[in-house]
Amino acid sequence: MEGLGNIIVCLKVVPKPEEVKFNPETKTVDRSKATNEINPPDKNALEEALRLKEKYGGRVIVVSMGPPFWEPYLKLAVAMGADDAVLVSDRALAGSDTLPTTLTLARAIQKIGGYSVILCGEESSDGSTGQVPQGVAEWLGVPHVTFVSKIIEIRDGKALIQRTIKGGHEILEVPLPFVAAIELGANTPRFPDFRRKRWAEREFKPKVWSIADLGLAPEEVGFKGSATEVVGLEEIKPPERLKKVITGPPERIAEELAKAILEEL
Ligand SMILES: Cc1cc2nc3c(=O)[nH]c(=O)nc-3n(C[C@H](O)[C@H](O)[C@H](O)COP(=O)(O)OP(=O)(O)OC[C@H]3O[C@@H](n4cnc5c(N)ncnc54)[C@H](O)[C@@H]3O)c2cc1C
Repeated sequence: MEGLGNIIVCLKVVPKPEEVKFNPETKTVDRSKATNEINPPDKNALEEALRLKEKYGGRVIVVSMGPPFWEPYLKLAVAMGADDAVLVSDRALAGSDTLPTTLTLARAIQKIGGYSVILCGEESSDGSTGQVPQGVAEWLGVPHVTFVSKIIEIRDGKALIQRTIKGGHEILEVPLPFVAAIELGANTPRFPDFRRKRWAEREFKPKVWSIADLGLAPEEVGFKGSATEVVGLEEIKPPERLKKVITGPPERIAEELAKAILEEL
């Protein structure tokens, strides 16, 4: 295995939060009219992976489970410096909760093989469960570290990892291979290389795998393979501002304001 071998980055494409709508009938997220982006902390995970590659050697491979329209975002990751990208895409995956999602990602990582470090973002901006990194680690039977702000060093088959805790951070020693969930803002993701971007857009093709390629049956994924079901969905709108202007001498304004606050309590 050269350097760290395969450094895996789990990358999700998410609709911009402000453009997401909910479909109350199917109780699913309606992304059809939203513009998409790479889930922001996943860019931090990719940057961390690229830095590890530069320091220790290895190959950075991006893995996604999602629909075919995610391909351009995988190409963007390659333009940023990833060596390869795998998209697991299959209609049977629709409706998967985190259980089949993590199973599918873990199977894809096992198929890639030769991995030492698996990096995820800390949380997606749409599903926001923060369960995927731990789930992937459990299926693979490897340790995982959450809220990672920095991978300090990798030496003698172990990594020194800095993770954020309330009021500070702690440093953990973890044996390879491991999964780490990288915090949003842990680093500054690099811009895609212009020439590499053009090459990736025109020539690079991510590997596209179906569930059959991963030895998974349709009942293990999707709604059937999920342990949870969305049974209710409610949109919470932020309260409207009253837009009331209080005028007069300062004492009267203070009095009116205090009265208005008390009424709201
Ligand atoms: C009952 C149920 C039904 C659902 N049905 C649908 C549906 O029909 N369509 C739909 O789009 N979603 C659906 N979801 C949401 C879907 O399960 C989650 O989006 C998915 O499991 C990932 O969870 P998350 O977004 O909370 O990821 P988090 O755990 O918050 O993400 C953390 C990190 O894990 C990695 N990661 C997460 N997801 C992926 C991925 N797909 N590929 C690669 N890396 C990833 C990223 O690095 C990310 O930063 C459903 C959820 C439930 C509970």
